[in-house]
Amino acid sequence: MSDPTSPVSDPTSATGDRSAGRDRSLLRGAFVLPMDRPRRLIEGGSVLLEGDTIVAVGPDEEVAADARSAGATVVDLAGHAVLPGLHNCHLHSGLLRGTAESLSLWDWLETYVDPAHRALTPEIAAVASRQCYAESVLAGTTSVMDMWRHMAGSAAEAEAIGLRATLVPYVADVEGYDYFETLATNRALLESHRTAAGGRVRTWVGLEHLMYCTPGCFADAAAMAAEFDTGLHTHSSESLWEVQESLKRWGRRPIEVMYERGILGPSTVIAHCVWLDDREIRILAETGTSVAHCPCSNMKLSSGPARVGALRAAGVAVGLGSDGEKENNNLDLLEEMKVASLLQKVSTLDPTTGDPWDVLTMATVEGARVLGLDAVTGSLEPGKRADVVAVDLRGLHTTPVLRGADSNVAAHLVFAASGRDVTDVWVDGVRLVDTGRPTTFDVASVRADAQAAAEELFARRAALSPG
Ligand SMILES: [Zn+2]
Repeated sequence: MSDPTSPVSDPTSATGDRSAGRDRSLLRGAFVLPMDRPRRLIEGGSVLLEGDTIVAVGPDEEVAADARSAGATVVDLAGHAVLPGLHNCHLHSGLLRGTAESLSLWDWLETYVDPAHRALTPEIAAVASRQCYAESVLAGTTSVMDMWRHMAGSAAEAEAIGLRATLVPYVADVEGYDYFETLATNRALLESHRTAAGGRVRTWVGLEHLMYCTPGCFADAAAMAAEFDTGLHTHSSESLWEVQESLKRWGRRPIEVMYERGILGPSTVIAHCVWLDDREIRILAETGTSVAHCPCSNMKLSSGPARVGALRAAGVAVGLGSDGEKENNNLDLLEEMKVASLLQKVSTLDPTTGDPWDVLTMATVEGARVLGLDAVTGSLEPGKRADVVAVDLRGLHTTPVLRGADSNVAAHLVFAASGRDVTDVWVDGVRLVDTGRPTTFDVASVRADAQAAAEELFARRAALSPG
């Protein structure tokens, strides 16, 4: 289990009185899901924000009686669910969606994805992050872990848009993969952006993949993460081929190889983890390593179903990830929750798995724990940062909304709602989406820039392709 006192220290610690004398907002009349304890739903609930901090959560009358509610800006959220901002624990910014479908994983990587990496420029990479972060915020995601390239540009985009971002450069050093990031460029980003934007933006150490990185690269990456007191992120055990190849090359399964190479621990997050045996699950649990589960990607690339129930039962923290825009093809974590639930149900043939509250937990408080942010965010609790999302439940697809013993709000969020139902988003108390409209970017210009950057990327890729 990830240690809540994780060594990933962060200046955004939720202690200290940053809120005194700041603007206050009273979000009221909502179905509030604080996610601070199991299955807690406040019908007719309020959340009081002061500056960047949550100062009160409870029934409307109780919070209205709090002296700090006097004079607050009132946001009436009747008919809405209010929940903590969602955490996307595995994302790759990009501009490739829909361009290479129905291919095998390695064919897809070698024929389409890697040539696009060769053609990528820092300017195109930044525009890709802008689009992906803007899309994320509009769909209720307040925190992303993005594994991408040329990430000083991603840092600037995250700072401008206002979401929380953990930046993880893709590092690879095996011959033939020299167009990825290097330990030197990862170090440079750590030096410039170990934390930025008041702690909202952080840099971790990233390793692309077991087959793309030498043993020395793993050792140096672990040492660099320790030196900067930061986290480490990589992929593993996504396809069966990868497990077979690991056994052939090293006589060990991938998680065993990673353990031997010294990268597992409470500050390490591994994406996918589809093909794990019981011993590998034990290794993850005993080392406190966390997992980013990417159900859409696992289904779309025919990777297989991760053993989410076994991982969480063993005490491994599991967050949700969209994976890249090209593997999904959207960054809608409300939809990801539905797919996560359905994949568990169909792969285990057990309809009691994939409970809505369990997947809500993974998308919120457990996702924050995966990212070492649970002291700061992930639940609606006094003292935590004001990362809050409102979801409109007044659509035909979310009707009826029932109360008390018949409550269906959690099920609506997971199975019926989508990111398009998100109306309001706050990060650090800043209202990034106000009744459906973004306040820090213009959708039309993000779209125009992404269109132009993608056309440039594909032209560059064609020019680089042999023949
Ligand atoms: Zn990935």
